[in-house]
Amino acid sequence: MNSSVKMPAIFIGHGSPMNIIYNNPYTQSLVKLAKDLPVPENILVISAHWLTRGTFLMKTDVPSQIYDFSGFPKELYAVKYPARGNSVLAETIKKKLKIDHVRTSGDWGIDHGAWSVLKHMYPDANIPVIQLSIDITKPAEYHYELGKMLSFLRDMNILVIGSGNIVHNLRVVDFSNIDGTVISWAERFDAKVKKDLLAGDHQSLINYRDLPSHELAIPTPDHYLPLLYITGMQANGDAVTFPYEGFQHATLSMRSVQVG
Ligand code: ZN
Repeated sequence: MNSSVKMPAIFIGHGSPMNIIYNNPYTQSLVKLAKDLPVPENILVISAHWLTRGTFLMKTDVPSQIYDFSGFPKELYAVKYPARGNSVLAETIKKKLKIDHVRTSGDWGIDHGAWSVLKHMYPDANIPVIQLSIDITKPAEYHYELGKMLSFLRDMNILVIGSGNIVHNLRVVDFSNIDGTVISWAERFDAKVKKDLLAGDHQSLINYRDLPSHELAIPTPDHYLPLLYITGMQANGDAVTFPYEGFQHATLSMRSVQVG
């Protein structure tokens, strides 16, 4: 392991749990992404599906795999992702952060926001995984600033993955049609976020409530906030690239973002 390499940080649009068992251009992009990245020693996931009051680091060496979706085919519930956790690392991160309001928790395992993408990226489940929860009571700035504070993880051979979706509105998702025509407001919103990412306009991304159609694209912030952690981790001179761009189900942006 060469720990002198600065690990990129990644945001991944995870979309429908059906992608767990699909083989499509999106899932293929995850396979390729993992091959292109340096091999991490540990993975930390900030998943849209661990929402808490307060910020918590998952602290367990044998995490449960959480099937936090319902109404999907039985096949999905048979998929196993038996990665280990890393309680020592959780404690180390907490200490290095030196802020009281980030605590550790043994109450969470690996949720589908994490394992649905890791299953494609690291199918052998041989890299320890920990998660950081999203304090849903806090404003966008908090998540961006916490991302900044977590930048040191990139120098510890830890791959940080934010897992959510830039456009995520379950009320308008057309689950019957994965490759349907993309609705124009969704396309415009995703394009504006791309533009801000390329321009390094993080303030615009933090102030997402000022963006056109934000109420349609981000009716609740859970799937968007993981992106702010990753933009917060961007260092001066880091390139921003998009390992995957596209939509599923007419409005779900599946865009992935890589910094560094
Ligand atoms: Zn989700």
